[in-house]
Amino acid sequence: MFYAKVGDTAMVYTGDYNMTPDRHLGAAQIDRLQLDLLISESTYATTIRDSKYGREREFLKAVHKCVAGGGKVLIPTFALGRAQELCILLEDYWERMNLKIPIYFSSGLTMQANMYYKMLISWTSQKVKETYSTHNAFDFKHVLNFDRSMIAAPGPCVLFATPGWLSGGFSLEVFKQWAPSEMNLVTLPGYCAAGTIGHKLMSGKPTKIDLDKNTQLDVRCQIHQLSFSPHTDAKGIMDLVKFLSPKHVILVHGEKPKMATLKGRINSELGIPCDDPANNETVSISSTHYVKARASDTFIQSSLNPNFKFSKRISEDESGSWLKDRKFMPQLQVTDKRTAEGILIEEKNKKAKILHQDELLLMLGEKKHEVRFAYCCPINVSNLEETKSTSDNVLCTSDRCSWLQLLNNKLSGEISGGNIQDFGEHLQVESFDISVCLNDKCRYRIIDSQNKSEAVFFCCTWSVADEKLAWKIISIMENFDCESH
Ligand SMILES: [Zn+2]
Ligand SMILES: [Zn+2]
Repeated sequence: MFYAKVGDTAMVYTGDYNMTPDRHLGAAQIDRLQLDLLISESTYATTIRDSKYGREREFLKAVHKCVAGGGKVLIPTFALGRAQELCILLEDYWERMNLKIPIYFSSGLTMQANMYYKMLISWTSQKVKETYSTHNAFDFKHVLNFDRSMIAAPGPCVLFATPGWLSGGFSLEVFKQWAPSEMNLVTLPGYCAAGTIGHKLMSGKPTKIDLDKNTQLDVRCQIHQLSFSPHTDAKGIMDLVKFLSPKHVILVHGEKPKMATLKGRINSELGIPCDDPANNETVSISSTHYVKARASDTFIQSSLNPNFKFSKRISEDESGSWLKDRKFMPQLQVTDKRTAEGILIEEKNKKAKILHQDELLLMLGEKKHEVRFAYCCPINVSNLEETKSTSDNVLCTSDRCSWLQLLNNKLSGEISGGNIQDFGEHLQVESFDISVCLNDKCRYRIIDSQNKSEAVFFCCTWSVADEKLAWKIISIMENFDCESH
């Protein structure tokens, strides 16, 4: 298994693993790591395999029966893993039963693999380790190298040949020669990829197999399916996921329907989000990023403010059990859940810090930006023409004030609360600000001032928080009936 960590984000990629020890390797072991992601293989996503002992005995019985009858046993395997496990099993059995029938390894590759096993003995199972000083389990006494010329040689034998699924190569070449004889035996791994000869042999008991369009092969040999393979089963996957409790699981290396079932189990039984992406599909997973930050005094102060919530306690057992006396049961429940909002500042070569939002502008030397709405509102004042200054189109300062005064009186009557502030040059209600507008080209005017010669314009601005209030005041202004004054 591979453990990878980038910053604070950690993940494990399992590769193929087995949670139960076999003859040559110990069970997969892993520390209880804090993981954001576990990528697990899921070849046996829904299989729970039966006891290993029974399966081994069946395998040995089948092999022994075949060679005793003069047949040849073909064991297609991949170079690493199961070949070594089965080989230890056979060596042991050959020793006990005092058998002299040759066991062959087809490829130099497997021999080479055995060399690695010898070198990496510390990874192997407890039993292999314990006997290592007296006997290296990978020094196979009975195992010999196989030569192509021996395929047609008479007499019984056992042959390990790659690849494992009879998908081509040497194992398929031997299979073609040996399959037609009912004396022979082929053992298949617990899993073969769809489309391979191995997969075809596993599905039903075919007597003929199409090698290609023109070649058909008679299959009369015995077929034995092995269910021990270096993959973990459903229980093993669930055990590992439970043990590690990662934040996210991705299942790979399996078949879609089985993976979907296991994904559902991981989701519902362990409550861990799980994905089973297809090849080339991208999965995005949020990662962990810890930031150590200083906090400003203002921020700490702001988070110290209590946030009490009072709620009535609902008695869970109204009929009253051991607590009959209500005096001991406070009716009021007080909670104090505090959340403080701050701004995380990360500067180059400086330790990160959290500020209260009020401090940010100060730190940046910026002024607070506020979005304000504006509207230049016309009010018809033709009836008040006589109060206007004699000089045309120009209002003196006092006139401006009198317009505002008039408006103030009007609004005071209409707006409850009467929180209108008169600053002489302008009026203010909350953030709503009104002043007389003398700019004919004021860009907040909707109606052209030329057609509204009778009107006095009032420039209004307000912030978004007072939107409702603003339109209420504007509607009062637009319906301003001067005659009532
Ligand atoms: Zn695999
Ligand atoms: Zn204006």
